[in-house]
Amino acid sequence: MSDRLSGKVALVTAAGAGIGRATALAFAKQGAKVLATDINADALTSLAAEHASITTRILDVTKTDQIETLVRETGPFDVLFNCAGFVHAGTILDTDDASWHRSFSINVDSMFHLCKAVLPGMLDRGKGSIINMSSVASSIKGVPNRFAYSTTKAAVIGLTRSIATDFVSRGVRCNAICPGTVKTPSLGERVRALGGDEEANWRSFVQRQPMGRLGEPEEIAALALYLASDESAFTTGTVHIVDGGWSN
Ligand code: NAD
Repeated sequence: MSDRLSGKVALVTAAGAGIGRATALAFAKQGAKVLATDINADALTSLAAEHASITTRILDVTKTDQIETLVRETGPFDVLFNCAGFVHAGTILDTDDASWHRSFSINVDSMFHLCKAVLPGMLDRGKGSIINMSSVASSIKGVPNRFAYSTTKAAVIGLTRSIATDFVSRGVRCNAICPGTVKTPSLGERVRALGGDEEANWRSFVQRQPMGRLGEPEEIAALALYLASDESAFTTGTVHIVDGGWSN
């Protein structure tokens, strides 16, 4: 089956790498027209070369004016996948005001502005699916040294449920995805940032996953694809855990 998103137009943030990239490709392969956005122009160029249904545009999700211009010029959208996020490492004692505000700006304010910009077009046409990237490091599970990150990802769940409730009778669905540890370029950066023995650092991330392996971006993209498609038409306000049993 290669037409699960046939006729749909999807906007994906942070599509240059990792889960966003895998999802943009999964959407395009299933028939969607995808507007893939990121701050990394080279990554977008290489992504567009992979599928003819993917067009690209620079979008920094922390810039409200960029969001409004993009939606005005390229909307309306059937699907919005809010994937962009930033991991700050540390306890509350390691978190200064700048890190706290940066975490909220990228992880939560971005979703507030993107959802608000895209919703009117969805409501006009009485249909739409919004998918927000949360994490099991949120209100689901306490994870060491993820104070600011987990706080923002818990906020994403609240934001998701509120939108789902407010627009449940008007054709717009809103759901959240909560991955465990997924093998993406930014995870590699976090592993290297720990310093010391890189192999041992990778093992420590793998060891906290009870399946003994990390998730693959494509395994998260498969869930985003389901939530974007009409197969999930009866699903809204839900929080989907895809974590290899980590939070079980
Ligand atoms: P990532 O963190 O490596 O980011 C991918 C892309 O985000 C990059 O191409 C980068 O250029 C872009 N980006 C960075 N800042 C941006 C900004 N301000 N505006 C637009 N784009 C920006 O990718 P990932 O690890 O796949 O994470 C994607 C999402 O999944 C994040 O929200 C993250 O919190 C969440 N998540 C990841 C994991 C994991 O283990 N990787 C687990 C749970 C949740």
